[in-house]
Amino acid sequence: MQRISHWVNNKVVIGTSGRTGKVFNPATGEQQAEVDLASVAEVDAVIAKSKAAFPEWRATGMSRRAEIMFRTRELLDANRKELATFLTLEHGKVPSDALGEIARGIENIEFACGIPALMKGGYSEQASGGVDVYSIRQPLGVVAGITPFNFPAMVPMWMFANAIMCGNTFILKPSEKDPSASMFIADLLRQAGLPDGVFNVLHGDKEAVDRLLVHPDIQSVSFVGSTPIAKYVYETGTKNGKRVQALGGAKNHMLVLPDADLDMAADAAVSAAYGSAGERCMAISVVLAVDTIADALIEKLKTRVPNIKVGPGTDPSAEMGPLISREHRDKVASYINNAAGEGATVVINGTDKAKDAGFFLNPSLIDNVKPGMKCYDEEIFGPVLTVMRVKSYAEGLKTINDNEFGNGTAIFTRDGGVARQFQYDVQVGMVGVNVPIPVPVSYYSFGGWKASLFGDQHMYGPEGINFFTRGKVVTSRWPDPRTSAVDLGFPTNR
Ligand code: NAD
Repeated sequence: MQRISHWVNNKVVIGTSGRTGKVFNPATGEQQAEVDLASVAEVDAVIAKSKAAFPEWRATGMSRRAEIMFRTRELLDANRKELATFLTLEHGKVPSDALGEIARGIENIEFACGIPALMKGGYSEQASGGVDVYSIRQPLGVVAGITPFNFPAMVPMWMFANAIMCGNTFILKPSEKDPSASMFIADLLRQAGLPDGVFNVLHGDKEAVDRLLVHPDIQSVSFVGSTPIAKYVYETGTKNGKRVQALGGAKNHMLVLPDADLDMAADAAVSAAYGSAGERCMAISVVLAVDTIADALIEKLKTRVPNIKVGPGTDPSAEMGPLISREHRDKVASYINNAAGEGATVVINGTDKAKDAGFFLNPSLIDNVKPGMKCYDEEIFGPVLTVMRVKSYAEGLKTINDNEFGNGTAIFTRDGGVARQFQYDVQVGMVGVNVPIPVPVSYYSFGGWKASLFGDQHMYGPEGINFFTRGKVVTSRWPDPRTSAVDLGFPTNR
């Protein structure tokens, strides 16, 4: 059995805790590896190595850091396909989806290459006679990132690219379900010339996370995962004096108005609902269809959904792969199987595929969902598109704003005025206008509202730089014997 171990000081370090997790191939349902799960002592040892590496890394010139980041970008670019194979093997992604994830991750590396141009402070000459005032941004120290299974390459890149470019040393605790991508990326960073200890990978579960959250030498925690754990990570981390950004789950609505191009809306809904088997935090899971076009839209969805080719990522024609685990597949199936009993209409039931040895489901489509039904109230995180019929734009907007989550949303319309009003009123962090998955480009920042984000700094982009640095303001005067005198009054600028 293949064993996946930690990455410390630019080499593989075999775990000593005696605890391991199982890594499956979701397409076959078979265990293919075991991953070491760190003990508290192992977490402490990695933190010590990261702390030891910090002073030298912080002192390394920004152009040298940028040079390493540029090389990392080149290595990632040259190794896209190989990295994608880990995403297919352990997560189940089909190649187009895996390569898309890597491409979006690389955009974050490219943004980080330009951080020297952005990590600038301000300078005010002659704030007072002979006194200048300026601001600088400095790294935090040892920072940690805890990532989910569904983007094993991209989400780590959201975090570590900015963190290390800003001069921090970084500990990644990836999902124990698909840990290999992080090891591959770690080796590329080594090849790019990153010094020992600047980027370490610690595999583990709750025990490792809990230690990171309380250890005094961890300065900040970046988390992406489900809402209950995001909340826990935020509360525990901040209680222990850490800066925390914790991104949680989602329920993303797509509001389709009567004037929308319905074919475009149907294509977009199908792509955004079933891509990556619905295991995306920005997946569209609810279409809000205004009554007058709801039947027509459902018809268009019904013709498209059965054409989706479900299969293993090793089949070049497959468009949608399996779910991450047997338990998750069964949980998703339970939402579909219970929907009719709750009063919804199951238009397409994809649970027949649940008999496969791999963790597959076919895409499902559920109409007439309403708040109060489990398939609406909870994040399903699977290939299930639900449709809620609403009377008007106003009812659609209210439905979105009443939902506990606020990650992404989209409006489909040809009316620019309504779209503008929507962006003004909607209580969601990332909004698409005729764009179903509005993941911000790397030079903006990513993050939802409400139960989709705990903390006040979004991830990557400019807010990522703020998160991984702290500001300092210097007020300086050069000695001038002509103006020197004892004065016990409070210093004023005038
Ligand atoms: P998860 O919350 O189960 O796990 C995320 C991380 O937390 C993993 O590294 C895991 O090891 C760790 N963890 C799990 N249970 C823990 C516990 N009890 N204590 C401490 N740490 C724990 O999430 P997941 O299933 O890996 O990922 C799917 C979820 O992530 C979905 O809810 C999805 O919406 C969300 N997600 C959100 C975003 C976003 O940007 N908002 C992006 C991707 C995924």
